[in-house]
Amino acid sequence: MTFDPETTTFLIAGPVRIHPRVLRAMSMSSLNHRGDYFHGIVAEIRELMPVLFGAKGHQLILSGSGTAGLEAMYSSLVPKDRRTLVLSNGNFGERTDQIVRRYSSQVTTVTAPWGQPLARDAAEQELEKGDVGAVCVVHNETSVGLANELAQLAPSVRKSGALFLVDGISAVAGIPVDIDGWGIDALVAGSQKGLAAPAGLALVHLSDRAVAALHPGSFYLDLAAHLKSLEKNDTPWTPAVPLFLALREALVILREEGLVHRLERTHRLAEAARGAVDALGLSLFPERRHASDTVTAVRNPDGMGDAELRKALEREYNVLVQGGQGALTGKIFRIGHMGIADWPDLLVTFAALERILGKAGRLPAPGMALRAVVDRMP
Ligand code: PLP
Repeated sequence: MTFDPETTTFLIAGPVRIHPRVLRAMSMSSLNHRGDYFHGIVAEIRELMPVLFGAKGHQLILSGSGTAGLEAMYSSLVPKDRRTLVLSNGNFGERTDQIVRRYSSQVTTVTAPWGQPLARDAAEQELEKGDVGAVCVVHNETSVGLANELAQLAPSVRKSGALFLVDGISAVAGIPVDIDGWGIDALVAGSQKGLAAPAGLALVHLSDRAVAALHPGSFYLDLAAHLKSLEKNDTPWTPAVPLFLALREALVILREEGLVHRLERTHRLAEAARGAVDALGLSLFPERRHASDTVTAVRNPDGMGDAELRKALEREYNVLVQGGQGALTGKIFRIGHMGIADWPDLLVTFAALERILGKAGRLPAPGMALRAVVDRMP
């Protein structure tokens, strides 16, 4: 079987597979982005956005990938005259640190090794020292398949009075994010993850407190300018019109499924993936109780690198999963199971993994990975 991008079993950690309805929605000739028709689409998107975030608030659409949303959030909200605390335990935590340092010279970074939970005690000690104006954290560390426990961190952030700024790019519509309960002030989602729209848009939720704290940072990504335009269903600059059309359809599909059901289905797929990994005799990269429901990160078996495993999946079975990043390249592989990923995707992927490991004489018990998936199907 040769790799075919149109028919592949597509389980990278985002972008995710896109529903044909969303693809069709994008196929339209150019629209006047200052005209009534497009403004009507923006109005519909605004009405639908609480379906994605599970909360109401000030919600914006930015043309640009998830990182554009992060840059918008940090450049507009990281205080100039107080300390900012960054918590990091993976590649995207390190990216947070890099972005925040472009906009503040008073950054304290509390790191934990990649794949370990956040260093919460150290973070709380920093908060107790005082003068922290913002706390920045990645909810779901896609690079290591780990969900950070924001529910546990939230009370100390709230007590400190700092703004709570969250990268929710691979969390939103994949794992529960309690915006109001945890007191999140700004949250960034990416169109290409749990929402299952094409890559290229960032969705941003802001609390009242965050709106009051906005200050000019980046020109293109000035959140105050975007908010002002959005009141008239407009955007300050030319938006990525086809992606807005796709976004509207992906939001309608999410509303049809319901956020709660999408989260439950994603959790169930994740449980199945973890059960199948066990049955293959492989181990998860993060500690199991911190394993993410949107991305399962698995250690490669000894002696089997990307060429023998991930590339073999692609070459021989037309299955795409993702490799590790940075120092984890060739050491782990990651299976994304968010958005509209579903049971057939897992069945094909684990059947192929059984075959590859079986041929290498490394499969403990044939059929058991598939059994683990089947047993968790509804
Ligand atoms: N943050 C997290 C947690 C991510 O998973 C990603 C992408 O995978 C990003 C940031 C960067 O987003 P983008 O590549 O859409 O700019």
